[in-house]
Amino acid sequence: MSEVTVIGGGIIGVCSALALQREGIATTLIERGSIGGEATFGNCALMALSEIVPLAKPGVMKKLPGWILNPEGPLAIRPGHLPAALPWLLRFLRNARPHRVAQICRGLGALTAHAQEDFDEVIEAARIENIWAENEVLYLYDKKEQYLADQFSWQLRANEGYHVTELEGSALANLEPDVDSDGKFGLIAHGWRSFTDPQRLTYELAQHFTELGGEILSAEVNRIESTLSKPRRLHFADGSQRDVDKLVIAAGCWAGRLLKDIGIRIPLAPLHGYHTDIADSGVSLSRPVLYASGGFVNTPVESGLRIAGTVEIAPLDAKPNFRRAEVLVEKARRKLFPGLKHTHGSQWIGARPFMPDTLPVIGPAPDVEDTWLAVGHGQLGVTMGPTTGKLVSAMIAGRSPAVDIAPYRADRSYV
Ligand SMILES: Cc1cc2nc3c(=O)[nH]c(=O)nc-3n(C[C@H](O)[C@H](O)[C@H](O)COP(=O)(O)OP(=O)(O)OC[C@H]3O[C@@H](n4cnc5c(N)ncnc54)[C@H](O)[C@@H]3O)c2cc1C
Repeated sequence: MSEVTVIGGGIIGVCSALALQREGIATTLIERGSIGGEATFGNCALMALSEIVPLAKPGVMKKLPGWILNPEGPLAIRPGHLPAALPWLLRFLRNARPHRVAQICRGLGALTAHAQEDFDEVIEAARIENIWAENEVLYLYDKKEQYLADQFSWQLRANEGYHVTELEGSALANLEPDVDSDGKFGLIAHGWRSFTDPQRLTYELAQHFTELGGEILSAEVNRIESTLSKPRRLHFADGSQRDVDKLVIAAGCWAGRLLKDIGIRIPLAPLHGYHTDIADSGVSLSRPVLYASGGFVNTPVESGLRIAGTVEIAPLDAKPNFRRAEVLVEKARRKLFPGLKHTHGSQWIGARPFMPDTLPVIGPAPDVEDTWLAVGHGQLGVTMGPTTGKLVSAMIAGRSPAVDIAPYRADRSYV
């Protein structure tokens, strides 16, 4: 029996398994589908260092009616889902108060501050090639006034040490010739990187884990059996079972069901997003373009130009509304890329595991022995993957983690 079993083979589970292995702890990783095949598959592919300002911030209340009424807007609530989502939504809104937003930024910033170094470590160790693309992003606003109106967020990023370079006119036009920058206002955020393919990244990290002797089990955990507040055995969908010693739950949006088995309830919600990958787009970008006025991201990835984003609050098993992905592409062509050759491409939906306070849950399961949680990384799961792995493995190895985990505890007040 491995000493530690990690449930979930997304970026968080894979990085946790790798970090445990580096501690010399025999580890098994369990994934029911393909490694990195869920939220980790199709995200915006950014190591988004300074994206630490939550969606819920002052002014969000005024926008709520629009979200409910416009299914094609940047943030929508699936019709009929409002009553079920309401308790989570109320907490989310309570976190929009300025002092809470500042605390959340500090909590996320404490994790993203380690991202570069922790990524370099795992990528070098696994010898993954051609995975990094650019080392900065361009934020684009339609008008400088919109940027000025968003000073609350930019000041919070600056407080955490993230600074930007302002660009307009010919300096902006020369930077990305395929972008219609006429009248627009740009900002370069430094130190970010983008991945050529976040799923390949995760898959190759998992491969490295197996090369070093780690076990990957392809199975779906149906139930966790415990005695005397300690998980003892996993029951799988195919009827088989396996005894466990220590457990890490990193099952993304699906963690809730497993956590109930061990008596833990956390307010985890799936916030769906979409992408379209357009091969041979006719648009060449030297860096990802984050269209701040439209709330979506354009990243050059291995499979072409990825146009991704939007937030849809809907049940985990909701049928995709790919109209949301089409709207992004239409907007991208209208507002950013007049030379976009095609509007069709491969479409994807994925669900961000989201806590109402936007902070992940990293730490021991309250009142349950030998169990740790690594879930709820929201909009920043890829960015925070290796750092989360190191925190989890340090705790299991009995060392103090490099970051104070108090803000991420499962038994915190989610407000
Ligand atoms: C549109 C969009 C854009 C995004 N852009 C970015 C970005 O640019 N940068 C960034 O840092 N983050 C981004 N994110 C967020 C990021 O993708 C997620 O936070 C991250 O992928 C979450 O990783 P995870 O490992 O927790 O979850 P997942 O990747 O969903 O992995 C969970 C895994 O657990 C497995 N699993 C679940 N239940 C079981 C079970 N019972 N038994 C066995 N296996 C199980 C699932 O099959 C799955 O593979 C974006 C998300 C979206 C949707």
